[in-house]
Amino acid sequence: MSDTVQPAKRPARKTWNYTPALPIRLAPYWDWPLRPLESVFYLLKSWNPVAMRFVMLLAAIATWLWFTPDIERAKTVAFGWVFEVWLRNFLILTGVAGGLHLFLLRFRLQGDDYRYDLRPMARGAKVFSFKNQVYDNMFWSFVALQFWTFWECLMWWSYANGWATMITFDRNPVWFVALIVLIPIWAGFHFYWFHRLLHVGRLYTWVHAWHHKNINTGPWSGLAMHPVESFFLMFDTMIFFLVPAHPIHVLFLLFHHGIGAPTSHAGFERLKVGGRDSFEVGDFFHQLHHKFFDCNYGTWETPWDGWFRTFHDGTPEGDAEVKQRRMQLWTK
Ligand SMILES: [Zn+2]
Ligand SMILES: [Zn+2]
Repeated sequence: MSDTVQPAKRPARKTWNYTPALPIRLAPYWDWPLRPLESVFYLLKSWNPVAMRFVMLLAAIATWLWFTPDIERAKTVAFGWVFEVWLRNFLILTGVAGGLHLFLLRFRLQGDDYRYDLRPMARGAKVFSFKNQVYDNMFWSFVALQFWTFWECLMWWSYANGWATMITFDRNPVWFVALIVLIPIWAGFHFYWFHRLLHVGRLYTWVHAWHHKNINTGPWSGLAMHPVESFFLMFDTMIFFLVPAHPIHVLFLLFHHGIGAPTSHAGFERLKVGGRDSFEVGDFFHQLHHKFFDCNYGTWETPWDGWFRTFHDGTPEGDAEVKQRRMQLWTK
């Protein structure tokens, strides 16, 4: 046995400061053979009143009741009602992304509790506009805000002119409720295919690489992307030209991006208010995508990452699998 003293090995840096219980799992909706009971239970859980989905629905209802111009006014395009929509969206974006940023990263009101990755937002890094990750992210989020407003106004204009079919709760209560349940699945469907396409060839290097500058993400990173990406991100709203719906559905779908992206990129699994666990915000599934790229293109509710073997469950074995796949691609 040698008695020379070996220099102490520096412990490998922990990838995550916090993770939810691992392995994370995909929703059982698409399992074969079907698992109807588990699926219903999982779906009900996804509507947890202290998580984002439920809040986005409440926000959609409140926004429709009190903060949306009368559809009649949208018959002709005019500065007044379009500006009202823009201003309301501006306040939502600034309130959600800015509020979370101040709470979590600026004033650090919960320290590093529930924080996935401890690395700070980058400063002085040339890859970011203004050499500052937060300023870059804010700027490109405000660009995305223009398109968010565009798609929304297009829908109001179309409803007002009868180009898209509007339903009411009184006349179509069953479809009204069913559509609320289906919208998150539709949002995930569109997100997966659009996002998967953006990872192909030049589309990645020219467009989507902008969003991936954020290896660690903060609330402003959610909508920080190339304008081509932020333009098509909310293109899923155009489903309402085919599917009769109510403006609450339109707002609910738009909020999956306008509110859902800043919260899911917050970098924290939960908010602690007054030192107590309260609200689920983050999305570890997507956090893994930012860290490892070639995995978790969709959402935990969509089946394709499972079917195409790109699902990363957050475990070290998952890390190894992604690295292995990357090596195979290089050696092909
Ligand atoms: Zn991506
Ligand atoms: Zn992202």
